Amino acid sequence: MPIVDLYGHGQLRERLAESISAGTLPASLLLQGPRGVGKQRLALWLAQRLLCTGTKPPCGSCTSCRYVADLTHPDVHWVFPRPRLKDSDPDLEQVRDDYAEATAERAAANGLYAPPSGSEGIYVATVRSLVQRAAIAPAMGNRKVFIIGDAERMVPQEGADMAANAFLKLLEEPPADTTIILTSSEPGALLPTIRSRVAVVRVPLVQDKAVRAFVENPTVKKVLDNNAKATAAERVRVAAGAPGRLLSGETDARATINARRMVDAATSARPAMIHTAALAQGSMGARGTFADTLDALVELLGERARDALHSNDTAGAASAAKAVDAVLQAQTYASSNVSPQLIASKLIRDLSATLR
Ligand SMILES: [Zn+2]
Repeated sequence: MPIVDLYGHGQLRERLAESISAGTLPASLLLQGPRGVGKQRLALWLAQRLLCTGTKPPCGSCTSCRYVADLTHPDVHWVFPRPRLKDSDPDLEQVRDDYAEATAERAAANGLYAPPSGSEGIYVATVRSLVQRAAIAPAMGNRKVFIIGDAERMVPQEGADMAANAFLKLLEEPPADTTIILTSSEPGALLPTIRSRVAVVRVPLVQDKAVRAFVENPTVKKVLDNNAKATAAERVRVAAGAPGRLLSGETDARATINARRMVDAATSARPAMIHTAALAQGSMGARGTFADTLDALVELLGERARDALHSNDTAGAASAAKAVDAVLQAQTYASSNVSPQLIASKLIRDLSATLR
């Protein structure tokens, strides 16, 4: 299942294609622009353009183009913020497995994904794995492309100076067969040592006409319809030039639904419901989603406390506040990598004891 096409950015694409043809494309680039304008999608397009073996690159039909569009090209290495791995010093294989899984998830969603949650980052083990990969020859073609999405989320870590320095050196002098593309919507938050080593390419807002074509793409429309009913014109207005914004609602909506399910199960006190709601939290792979659910739960219970206060129900407000404590405790378990299902099942029982 290929990812959804890149919409808009026609002029920028032309300019980038010209510099590739002229051999003047800088080896280390920073695509900077507002969140949701498609910077990482543009980086993937650029990867396709660089690796295409057809006569009119990117042709979209050669093996290389198809692999990029399926997010399976062995010479395209895409990293982005991820939840911290349980092992504080993971080996490179663990990092690769984690990204393989995350990338497969994005491919399964046709490349339509919500922005990372606040707790996700690009950790030093990821940087190490990039540096190591850059030293290896391409597997398929004659180039390799590294994409580092939301690059401002690279987490400087104590005792990791060697990895950081190796990465700076890589940015400054990539191997001749390597292109490195960073993307950022908060370039001010990037380390100055990184900024000074990349050529900045500004990515503008997408014109409404292209946003409209995006929201009318059947795959996109299906995803957006699952989230909330709206007309194409309304969506174009909400996107305001950044179609990716339309996708952030989906995670929020799903997390809220999961959170409500947990509260309903807790207040029903029916063991079967508790079991089902806990199972619905998925396994280890769903950690990011579970973290979002817990966030939504805190919000939901906060609302409940406020409503109770409004109607002078102090006991109700106190029990909702106590329930929030239980969620906060669950969040600590979640960050220490206990299975979401186990945490959810304990949490629902705790909620059940406080909310009734
Ligand atoms: Zn091609």
